[in-house]
Amino acid sequence: MSKLAIFGGEPAVTYVGSGKNDGSDLIKWPVVTDEDREAVLEVLNKGGMSGTDVTKEFEKEFCEWVGAKYALGTNNGTAALHAAMYGVGLGHGDELICPSITYWASCTSAYALGASVAFADVDPNTLCIDPKKIEEKITDRTKAIMVVHYCAHPADMDPIMEIAKKHNLKVIEDVSHAQGGKYKGRNLGTIGDIGAASLMSGKSFAIGEAGILWTNNLEIYERAVAFGSYERFNTGNIETDYLKEFAGLPLGGYKHRMHQLSAAMGRVQLRHYDERCVEINKAMNYFRDGIMDLPGVRIIKVDESDGSTMAGWYVPVGLYNSEELGGLSISRFCEALRAEGVPVNPGINRPLHTHPIHNTADIYNNGKPTRIRFTSTDIREMDKDLPVSATINKKAFFFPWFKHFRPEIIDQYINAVRKVCENYKELLADDKGDPEVLGGWHRFNHSKKS
Ligand SMILES: *Cc1c(COP(=O)(O)O)cnc(C)c1O
Repeated sequence: MSKLAIFGGEPAVTYVGSGKNDGSDLIKWPVVTDEDREAVLEVLNKGGMSGTDVTKEFEKEFCEWVGAKYALGTNNGTAALHAAMYGVGLGHGDELICPSITYWASCTSAYALGASVAFADVDPNTLCIDPKKIEEKITDRTKAIMVVHYCAHPADMDPIMEIAKKHNLKVIEDVSHAQGGKYKGRNLGTIGDIGAASLMSGKSFAIGEAGILWTNNLEIYERAVAFGSYERFNTGNIETDYLKEFAGLPLGGYKHRMHQLSAAMGRVQLRHYDERCVEINKAMNYFRDGIMDLPGVRIIKVDESDGSTMAGWYVPVGLYNSEELGGLSISRFCEALRAEGVPVNPGINRPLHTHPIHNTADIYNNGKPTRIRFTSTDIREMDKDLPVSATINKKAFFFPWFKHFRPEIIDQYINAVRKVCENYKELLADDKGDPEVLGGWHRFNHSKKS
């Protein structure tokens, strides 16, 4: 095989430029066509940006697609999750169990409800919350479990729902990475009490700054509406008795209204989403098959034999096994791949339990770190309490996320990975190892509890 690019050889991925077939739109997302442009322009020309008519149509279509009775569009996924937390009754002094490996918005708004967060470890094979690690986090304050279908892999919902039932807990599904995915044939977000998702541009279902929540429970839905959607919170359309007298103003003091340019785009994207996911799956499966026999690396994929799916496969996670490559660090491995033209960096999300906002910040002047202001015992975790989350960034990274089935270009990526895995011994000599902290967002100052 040819010389590694990191040592001056030809890079395996050779295409450059921005035309249609030279590969650049292989990664680009979302796919935007004239249909999106026309829908957005129609709202713009009508001056309907802050209305709710288009959003309500989008919600109705989303409900039909996902199989839920009620949906509420919001201005982003963080707002949808916040309203969902309020919807299930999370409040003052309660605890929410959340995986440590996820985006911060899965749990951080709990503090604004006066609640706290307990982090649970993730399963090393799926990177979703590990059902076996949930019960140890339950206290008499626990109110709900936040399940994240991380990077499109469905979390193991059956045991999670069993635990929730046994302890009388609510389950919120954060579907920001997995819209359209299934767990044993059931749509994600319809198994727990409520589903919520980001629809931000970078996400799987991407329509700009937007979010949505959905549920079959009228009271949960109406609480979510009452929380931050004042114009939808009217005596005429609210059936939950105890909410009626407050109609007209948002109970949470928030404004969550979805921008209708996003809603218009959402209606168009929804019509094409499933079909685009089929193509993404074809492309990602082709890539996965091409590197399957290699030592050192594999792609996380759900076992589809029981009707579970990866939806739009946001974003493919590579699991790295340094032992199979003579102890080569993930940093050196990714460096060699980057030289071959594959844009990868070591690490995924940084574990949330290590960030000071969850450890030392006294956000609301309680004279105590916000996270433990109501707890008699300190619930904050150390790395040893969450061993998988604490070390995952030396074992995982994001592979490129292919949106189109273009085997001739994907082959170049396959060859790049093959080249690095097969010639790993050449990389060992100059391997400086990993820095102390990997993954996450560089502007975030994750540090140990002090
Ligand atoms: C992006 C994301 C969110 C937050 O959504 P925004 O639209 O950015 O507010 C929440 N949870 C997960 C898992 C996410 O990836």
